[in-house]
Amino acid sequence: MGASLPDGGDDDVKGQRPRVVIVGAGFAGLTVAKRLAKVPADITLIDRQNHHLFQPLLYQVATAGLSPADIAWPIRSLVRRQRNTRVLLGTVTGVDRERKHVIMDGRNIAYDVLVLATGATHGYFGHDSWATHAPGLKTVDDATEIRSRLLLAFERAEMESDARERERLLTIVIVGGGPTGVEMAGSIVELARKALAADFRTIDPQQTHVLLVEAGPRLLPSFPEPLSRHAEQALRRLGVDVRLKQAVTHCAAIGVTLGDESVDAATVIWAAGVTASPAAAWLAVAGDRVGRVLVGPDLQPPGTDDVFVIGDTALAHDAAGASLPGIAPVAKQQGAYVAAAIQARLSGKGAPPPFHYRDQGLLATVGRKTAVIAFGRLRLKGWFAWWLWGIAHIYFLVSLRNRLIVMMQWLWSYVSSERGARLITGLHTALDPGRMRRRDGDTRLPDGRKSA
Ligand SMILES: Cc1cc2nc3c(=O)[nH]c(=O)nc-3n(C[C@H](O)[C@H](O)[C@H](O)COP(=O)(O)OP(=O)(O)OC[C@H]3O[C@@H](n4cnc5c(N)ncnc54)[C@H](O)[C@@H]3O)c2cc1C
Repeated sequence: MGASLPDGGDDDVKGQRPRVVIVGAGFAGLTVAKRLAKVPADITLIDRQNHHLFQPLLYQVATAGLSPADIAWPIRSLVRRQRNTRVLLGTVTGVDRERKHVIMDGRNIAYDVLVLATGATHGYFGHDSWATHAPGLKTVDDATEIRSRLLLAFERAEMESDARERERLLTIVIVGGGPTGVEMAGSIVELARKALAADFRTIDPQQTHVLLVEAGPRLLPSFPEPLSRHAEQALRRLGVDVRLKQAVTHCAAIGVTLGDESVDAATVIWAAGVTASPAAAWLAVAGDRVGRVLVGPDLQPPGTDDVFVIGDTALAHDAAGASLPGIAPVAKQQGAYVAAAIQARLSGKGAPPPFHYRDQGLLATVGRKTAVIAFGRLRLKGWFAWWLWGIAHIYFLVSLRNRLIVMMQWLWSYVSSERGARLITGLHTALDPGRMRRRDGDTRLPDGRKSA
């Protein structure tokens, strides 16, 4: 094992074995760590969260279908049996390439080989102030925040006497028609119209207005067009108000603006832009428009020989020059490639052939009855695709416990339409129940009276 970490000091004791530091225990970083379990090296796995998260099912936590622990697992226990691996909980803020240190919470962690796999987060196209009104979905905290906002809006609507304000509370806008937006829209409309339908006395949750706003001409732009059309029709059938070729031009506490139209909405969810982690700045190398580090076919930034950058934080290309998408299979395959490259290096073998991505398809579900799948030339949609989507997601969950729990939850909610995780948490940070600020600067109380 590596040297212990002195309090607030440096961690640069050079032992007998090479030191591999992996930053990020998402799909990419965790794959590297697990594949290096038996190599004669000291592996340090750093993450700012103590858990590995299965992001593809995060929208189900946000819509009360699953609990956070159903789709997350402690990183420490995932590498428990790897004698050569230690886990550090901390936030990396820089890399000193000259001295070969990673800077983590004021400490220096020395490396011989560095793997940066710090992922991406949502981007607001330069309007960072919108984040307060339109949270994105990336972490467990994001998901529980969105869940609270959604559920609290129904609670407040139940007590609201002003019809216009009630309508605002029962209006939900999702910005971005990619897989996350589509899955979220389907799940929210089912939450309102099925799971909540009989639970309120004053309001009718079936009247909930769910808008899905996409600036481009179609939903799911990375999918073949017929599948996009299928998803759009399925959402419209469920009752989602799909708006294409409409961009959100302003977000505020009261709602959103779509060009000339103002939509009053208590809940706005951001599923549009992406920004990579600041790894490019740490390394002082080129980043693309959204900050991804440009890497070569060896998954290293040009001019480096001891640093790999993988997963959502890297911009890699396939043999035809097309950029690889920010999806889990790319991250995992890149993780496996880097582990093989490190292993080859440690055993004095030459570098492996350039990284080649094996397409594992694109999947998205629309509610509980249909999904779309594009795999090579194969196109699937409908009920059968939905089952395949479900099986694939259960298969890729990280532990047997998670698989069993998610399977049971889904079965139960399939037959009963119930959502078991309808908890409102962090009430003090959720919507201010007393008053809200309107676009015109006035404040008013929930009953429509103006406040002083
Ligand atoms: C809501 C949502 C739904 C998705 N659905 C799908 C899907 O259906 N199918 C699919 O294939 N892909 C999906 N994706 C994309 C997929 O999850 C990502 O492509 C994948 O997670 C990328 O893996 P990664 O390891 O690069 O990054 P991540 O999995 O994001 O992991 C990055 C890790 O780095 C840590 N980290 C970040 N910064 C620091 C720092 N400064 N210091 C320390 N640690 C740090 C983070 O805590 C995190 O654990 C979805 C993503 C989201 C957000």
